[in-house]
Amino acid sequence: MPMNKYVIQLPKDQTPRQWHNILPQLPEPVGPYKNTTGQVPPLEALIGSVFPPWLIEQERSDQIWHPIPFPVLEAYALWRPTPLIRARRLELALNVRSRIYYKNESVSPSGCHKSNTAVAQAYYNHLAGIKRLTTENGAGQWGTALAIAARHFYLDIRVFMVKASLAQNPARQTIMNLLGADVLASPSLLTIAGRADLAKDPHSPGSLGLAISEAIGEAMSRSDTNYALGSVLNHVILHQTVIGQEVKKQLQIAGEKPDYLIACHGGGSNLGGLVVPFTPDVLNGQQIQFLAAEPATCPTLTKGKFGYDFGDMAKLTAMMPMYSLGADFAPPAIHADGLRYHGASPIISSLVKSKIVTPVAVEAEDAFHYAILMAQNEYVVPAPESSYALALTCQKALELEKARTPGVLVFVLSGHGLLDLSAYENNSGLEKNSPAKKD
Ligand SMILES: *Cc1c(COP(=O)(O)O)cnc(C)c1O
Repeated sequence: MPMNKYVIQLPKDQTPRQWHNILPQLPEPVGPYKNTTGQVPPLEALIGSVFPPWLIEQERSDQIWHPIPFPVLEAYALWRPTPLIRARRLELALNVRSRIYYKNESVSPSGCHKSNTAVAQAYYNHLAGIKRLTTENGAGQWGTALAIAARHFYLDIRVFMVKASLAQNPARQTIMNLLGADVLASPSLLTIAGRADLAKDPHSPGSLGLAISEAIGEAMSRSDTNYALGSVLNHVILHQTVIGQEVKKQLQIAGEKPDYLIACHGGGSNLGGLVVPFTPDVLNGQQIQFLAAEPATCPTLTKGKFGYDFGDMAKLTAMMPMYSLGADFAPPAIHADGLRYHGASPIISSLVKSKIVTPVAVEAEDAFHYAILMAQNEYVVPAPESSYALALTCQKALELEKARTPGVLVFVLSGHGLLDLSAYENNSGLEKNSPAKKD
């Protein structure tokens, strides 16, 4: 008998040994990446100067199962498998009969799901003889995850962190420095894209799209340096499929069939990681709804246009087939910085186009409201990003209650918010939304 039947923990040796590549199974194939003039050169010519060959192979692979290299499995064993937890007290607080589960990805060394791809990417770069990585960072989770992974595989790392986010959360720089990363505020004077932006506006707050331009710009200029991206790309979604594979086994142990799988959407990686392993089941007729929770202030999937667009502001990336608000869209400052991205993963975009994933815009106020309910009932402070998935899950459960059709809902707690407390402090709704203060 388990000590607590609401905590579903797999044994270590049940960590997935393979990643699930959905590309060959998609009903709407992902179109090829293009260059600025709309041509389709080989992927090596497009992105080969900043990515190692194994990741390029994964980016366009038509093989479904990819064995996870042993050094990556060894790193995964530090925190995987992660627990699936039934949020029983949250259900009671909401007064719903639906069963709500969350996959707790906050238990990784970085406190979020991004470690799943960070260790894989650092490993392949190490294998390619690369000495340094550059990357961009909004909220700080990706920089933290990659800093840890870089140390694990003996690489140096420089992080271009969006200036506005850095000012909002200086503790993030401290932790990255502590882990040995070099952190620069973006726009910086170090790159062409940074200088161009500062020339236009010396007080520019920066954006994720611009920080990507800076990180790629530096990686292109040095042969010992590669670039790593924490979301969006096919190989990132691939690495994240350990999440959904574990959830599948854990739900079987719990004797549950999921009705809703829910994740927040920034670039699509925690959502893709959850839903990809269930996608063949849905294509075979199983009834599961996949929901993407995105901020109403950065509504890429609900309001964006599908087409070819760049991943960054300076247009240094390949053009990718995806939903986008436009590469020069600068989303308003919200506290869930990890969701402030103009584009979307081509895989998620394809799943949205074929109506397998349904996007829903969620208000920031609701995200905070349910984050506080979660903290006070499940004792986890969700990352501001994860609160969007949580809020949508709670809203769905309430809706099902009204319709008298309770179900099984699973969401990804993509990270904890213990390093994002400034987001909670600055939230005027904290007092008003606190359930403890309501009566
Ligand atoms: C980066 C991040 C996200 C958004 O990225 P996706 O690629 O959409 O998953 C969500 N939650 C947390 C905690 C993050 O760090």
